Amino acid sequence: MASIRSTNTKPEMLVRKYLWSQGFRYRLNNPRLPGHPDIVLRKYRTCVFVNGCFWHGHDGCKYFRMPKTNTDFWEKKIKRNKNRDIEEQKKLAKMGWHCITVWECELKQDKRAKTLASLAFTLNHIYLQDRSITYPKIEEECELEQAAEPVPTP
Ligand SMILES: [Zn+2]
Repeated sequence: MASIRSTNTKPEMLVRKYLWSQGFRYRLNNPRLPGHPDIVLRKYRTCVFVNGCFWHGHDGCKYFRMPKTNTDFWEKKIKRNKNRDIEEQKKLAKMGWHCITVWECELKQDKRAKTLASLAFTLNHIYLQDRSITYPKIEEECELEQAAEPVPTP
């Protein structure tokens, strides 16, 4: 399956470097999670997606312009990408993960500092909130196993 996510793209590197410098620790492209999130912060139960404005169809963004040639093809393709993004984030939310999307355009020079600071703020906020209220537990497989135990027949 062709993936629209390529690793080590520049915007993603900016986010990674920043998070690391602020003491956040993460894993990359976890293959076991829906959508293979770019950055996974287990301690914060958060997946960060760094999205290119074109491929992920950033609404109302000046960096997202539908190409004038093959417009049909591109419209369909980008719509598919957007739908997939939504589905994957829904799945992650069901599994107890928070999702944060950082758009490429928010990492341009003039907005970068603000975007990164608010990302760190959001992560800390999530961390505190997860500990002050009771969240639904991440699905425990053992509960299902118990329920599925067969009744012995005489
Ligand atoms: Zn954008």
